[in-house]
Amino acid sequence: MLKKGYKLYSVLLGKCPRCHEESMYTTKNPYKISTTLKLNDNCSSCNLKYQIEPSFFYGSMYVSYPIGIAFTVPPFVISHVLLKASLLTTFFAITGTLIICLPLIARLARNVWINFFVNFDKEVSKKNNNA
Ligand SMILES: [Zn+2]
Repeated sequence: MLKKGYKLYSVLLGKCPRCHEESMYTTKNPYKISTTLKLNDNCSSCNLKYQIEPSFFYGSMYVSYPIGIAFTVPPFVISHVLLKASLLTTFFAITGTLIICLPLIARLARNVWINFFVNFDKEVSKKNNNA
């Protein structure tokens, strides 16, 4: 599942959605806040332009919501169900998790969003590997 050719590979690793060769982001570490959402203009392998149209990644906000919800389930289960913490404590656990995971959620949302519109191209990937 986590190898080239699968969308999950591009989504989880932030790779170019068309060739899966290089990272879309200028820095690998999402916690370097000044460059968390900074994208390369084009893929150096297949020349895909990441910003498909102006404000393209605004749409990733729709995706970040369910991803954020998914990130709140573990702290809820751990604090409220397993540790029997109060609702206020659970709220702070969830809020803290969301704040800490914000760079990851933002990048994941962008990766999912661009993968809705760009599919893996085996020919492009193969051509680049042989060259
Ligand atoms: Zn590419």
